[in-house]
Amino acid sequence: MKIEEGIRLSRFTTFGAGGPARWFASPESVDELAVALRFANEQEAGVAVVGLGSNLLVADEGVDLLVLKLAGELAAAEARDGLLRAGGGAPNAVALHRARAAGLGGFEFACAIPGTIGGGVWMNAGAYGGELSQVLGRVLVATAEGTGWLTPGELGLSYRHSNLRHGQVVVEAELRLHSRPPEEIKAVVRTLNAQRKAAQPTNRRTFGSVFKNPKHELSAGRMLEACGLKGHRIGGAQISPKHANFIENADGARSADAVALMAVARRRAHEQYGVELRHEVELLGDLALPPL
Ligand SMILES: Cc1cc2nc3c(=O)[nH]c(=O)nc-3n(C[C@H](O)[C@H](O)[C@H](O)COP(=O)(O)OP(=O)(O)OC[C@H]3O[C@@H](n4cnc5c(N)ncnc54)[C@H](O)[C@@H]3O)c2cc1C
Repeated sequence: MKIEEGIRLSRFTTFGAGGPARWFASPESVDELAVALRFANEQEAGVAVVGLGSNLLVADEGVDLLVLKLAGELAAAEARDGLLRAGGGAPNAVALHRARAAGLGGFEFACAIPGTIGGGVWMNAGAYGGELSQVLGRVLVATAEGTGWLTPGELGLSYRHSNLRHGQVVVEAELRLHSRPPEEIKAVVRTLNAQRKAAQPTNRRTFGSVFKNPKHELSAGRMLEACGLKGHRIGGAQISPKHANFIENADGARSADAVALMAVARRRAHEQYGVELRHEVELLGDLALPPL
């Protein structure tokens, strides 16, 4: 495993923006991960993991961190005896494929979530009434001090939230699934994907939902649509004309463009509805929203 300097993170985000990481490594095993975490400790550097970068905005100036992208056995998945074991870096699509092949259902909701298992645990990813907390057995987490298993209770999972902090790496997760014929799983996935395609800009570069849904009769998307923000543009970033809780990289957007749009959206929702929208997307590096 090489520890490289100055790798641009725009390559690893679905939005396609973000500056370089001070250090970057792709550990392929628990031993390699331990080496990387020791290196960061020696350098007194912070550590962050990038999954598929589908919920991530990285500062354009870059980040003064060791950024890890889990690979090899840390990105694999296997299903056996009703249990799906998936590496933190395993894409949901791979995990779902393994589950379906083994006739295990319960993870279908993740078909339209274009991230990894680790990214899903980090924010208790969910869709269509399902979320990770419903199927999670236990999670192996590594830090510079060593590894240990955490229960969903210890992870503090709630709506798009866990207690995990940078420096804690999701190495592996065990998902408890139930028997379901593969054809049935396939049919459910087909229906959910069609619903997703009809409602969201799936063919654009985005980072998924910008804001969490507030406790309000309107969802964040409907609220921003009612504020007249569909299609609103700053620099290369644009509020999706299809779904107002998405920001598209319309043309060479920088992360700062997206953050500026988010600031406008929060201000408008606050003025019109008295609601303080909270961002769902993770901000990495020196990126912050101005106070309302
Ligand atoms: C088109 C589109 C649709 C989406 N729809 C949904 C949806 O329906 N529901 C939903 O919940 N989300 C959705 N998302 C958002 C996103 O896919 C999820 O949040 C996903 O779980 C993020 O996973 P990731 O691997 O891409 O994480 P990243 O975006 O790479 O990282 C997100 C956070 O997780 C941390 N992280 C990632 N991997 C690890 C690890 N192994 N250990 C520790 N920390 C880690 C990162 O440091 C970061 O803080 C959507 C995104 C897009 C682009």
